[in-house]
Amino acid sequence: MSVSDPEPATFASPLEEVRARIVRSAVLAGRDPAAIELIAISKTHPMPAIQPLLDAGQLSFGENRVQEAQDKWPGAIANDRRIRLHLVGQLQSNKADAAVALFDAIHSVDRPSLIDALARASERAGRRPECFVQVNIGEEPQKGGCAIAELPALLAQAGRAGLPVAGLMCVPPADTEAAPYFALLAKLARDNGVAGLSMGMSGDYETAVLIGATHIRVGSALFGQRG
Ligand SMILES: *Cc1c(COP(=O)(O)O)cnc(C)c1O
Repeated sequence: MSVSDPEPATFASPLEEVRARIVRSAVLAGRDPAAIELIAISKTHPMPAIQPLLDAGQLSFGENRVQEAQDKWPGAIANDRRIRLHLVGQLQSNKADAAVALFDAIHSVDRPSLIDALARASERAGRRPECFVQVNIGEEPQKGGCAIAELPALLAQAGRAGLPVAGLMCVPPADTEAAPYFALLAKLARDNGVAGLSMGMSGDYETAVLIGATHIRVGSALFGQRG
């Protein structure tokens, strides 16, 4: 499934173009564009490259490493408390406290030990980031995310631990059509009574919006290729 290109148009910035494409896909799907959160994935990019997006009113950002986010974001957050930081990379349990302290949402919850660590860290911090359970949707050996068969048990465990699960997250296999994987994640969310869907990256976010994404994670389409 793909969307034909829009009328030739000049956009003031990559951010304007991505926003316009989100609106177009949402309208095509009969969805409210405001129900889709664009997360600007700023990993590897320094604050001077991020500042123009902040100036344009972008408030949701994503990083894949706790340390990098700790080095980069506290100053900007102190300046604007509306900024929301999302962790989209794999998280080691021993960094749960640091992650809970800094991030508003964690998209890579994928195993029982991490659920326990995040629940304890949230308790200590008195702060509960939204959690997305990452599903290894293509059943790829090297990839993060829980096996599809493990999902119900993980969701039940998160519930018992008092960890708020906002949705499911996936990164489909590279170099294949993403739509079937997005559709499978959407079905798993429906079957398990989970509302949010964190899916879609620079190459396929329009498809993801058509299939129901509530959170899309876009890096290179906003910032250019990473070095
Ligand atoms: C880097 C990253 C993205 C953004 O990828 P782009 O192709 O640059 O848009 C999205 N999700 C995750 C989990 C990532 O690591």
